[in-house]
Amino acid sequence: MFVGRIFYRSLCTMAPVAKSFDYLVIGGGSGGLASARRAAEFGAKCAIIEKARLGGTCVNVGCVPKKVMWNTAVHAEYLMDHKDYGFDVNGTTTFSWKTIKDKRDAYIKNLNGIYKSNLDKSQVEAIVGDAKFVGERCVEVDGNKYTAEHILIATGGRPVFPNTPGVEYGISSDGFFDLEDLPKKAVVVGAGYIAVEMAGILKTLGSDVSLLIRKDKVLRTFDSMISSELTEELQHIGINLMRQTQVSKVEKAADGRLTVFTNNGEISEVDTLLWAIGRVPNTEIGLDTVGVELDSRGNIKVDEYQNTSTKGIYALGDVCGKALLTPVAIAAGRKLAHRVFNGEDTKLDYSNIPTVVFSHPPIGTVGLTEEEAVAKYGKDNIRMYSARFTPMYHAVTERKTKTIMKMICLLPEEKIVGIHMMGIGCDEMLQGFSVAVKMGATKADFDSTVAIHPTSSEELVTMR
Ligand SMILES: Cc1cc2nc3c(=O)[nH]c(=O)nc-3n(C[C@H](O)[C@H](O)[C@H](O)COP(=O)(O)OP(=O)(O)OC[C@H]3O[C@@H](n4cnc5c(N)ncnc54)[C@H](O)[C@@H]3O)c2cc1C
Repeated sequence: MFVGRIFYRSLCTMAPVAKSFDYLVIGGGSGGLASARRAAEFGAKCAIIEKARLGGTCVNVGCVPKKVMWNTAVHAEYLMDHKDYGFDVNGTTTFSWKTIKDKRDAYIKNLNGIYKSNLDKSQVEAIVGDAKFVGERCVEVDGNKYTAEHILIATGGRPVFPNTPGVEYGISSDGFFDLEDLPKKAVVVGAGYIAVEMAGILKTLGSDVSLLIRKDKVLRTFDSMISSELTEELQHIGINLMRQTQVSKVEKAADGRLTVFTNNGEISEVDTLLWAIGRVPNTEIGLDTVGVELDSRGNIKVDEYQNTSTKGIYALGDVCGKALLTPVAIAAGRKLAHRVFNGEDTKLDYSNIPTVVFSHPPIGTVGLTEEEAVAKYGKDNIRMYSARFTPMYHAVTERKTKTIMKMICLLPEEKIVGIHMMGIGCDEMLQGFSVAVKMGATKADFDSTVAIHPTSSEELVTMR
């Protein structure tokens, strides 16, 4: 139970008098909400400041609406296979983007309400507005001042736009969720996971999609097998992949349609241009005032305990630029609350964080890539196992997707240091296997586990 409460009013003196808390959290997204609620459980008097919608990126313009759209696209894929499975599909199938958008928006609105009532139940005060540091331990929102002994920055990030003439005619991943209809023709710019996920959703639902990438492959920070195979798979599902391509300008015609000019020719009559070229941290919150330092990439610099360069001010989640994932922000936020308000010597272990990309088919990955393992341990100390097959789901279908798997082991005991896979079901398969990797499982442990047949996951315990 947290007992020590220090009042910082003297540090936040100018009128109006500041309202004082033990813990003030800036940003009501994944990390901020989790940290504030956990701190409140330990008896800390907490407030959370949010300028937009509670839930942050993940709930409003990230994981949640994205997964709803991915599920929608998976439906479209299964529809392609209905005939092969004996279903009569002679009737015309129609798709209403509006139906799923309305349902998705309603689901998210409901989640926003649940987040607010959870804050109320936890007795965390919700403050609406744009927060800025205006003095030591002093944060201002709409002219009101707030102070706390401990302040958390969990302000997340936002999409970045290029410096291209006509850039304003395009949307970002945020805008993707505002689209009122499925674009007939879309151009997606970017090679990261958001670009490939959104290009995949649009293509699978029926858009004519071009994906413009600067280099030759997508997901270049992933294991080379995943990067190469997904690059092929995107073309296999009919995406027009334009490699070594950069947009030079965008023009909008009177009918609203766009022409996207590139170094490799132009694409005309485009309904939607989506920039998915990266994200930047939200750090414009008066950090100079309190001396919080940024790293060379503009992210907030923190140590392994989420301490910033200023005592009593912490940061976590996307604003720190490391492992930009919701469960990472949540886990770091909870650990911090346990440390600061319950006296536990705890911190998040950032190794072996499992990640899924909701491509078609999905990707699951945990641990080191082959390239990282070789660089870290040397080629002679690594042994690799791999599998490539057509999953049984496709035994009777004309449409085919492949499944690929790679296991990276550290010699001599063959400790598993990386698992990378792409294929139907790999998204759900990964969590359990990542527990084993985190526990330090060896190849022999996997081999001694009896397979589940017939599944794709059995391949991981039968690799030779
Ligand atoms: C399209 C997309 C898909 C994604 N898919 C996945 C996925 O499948 N799985 C996954 O794990 N992660 C996914 N992510 C990443 C995930 O959303 C983020 O890692 C996560 O939301 C980070 O949490 P956070 O708490 O750091 O920041 P956020 O959730 O971004 O929350 C930050 C909050 O701070 C608020 N804020 C900012 N500045 C201020 C201020 N000055 N005053 C008050 N409030 C402020 C913002 O409005 C925001 O609500 C996705 C992201 C995107 C964009």
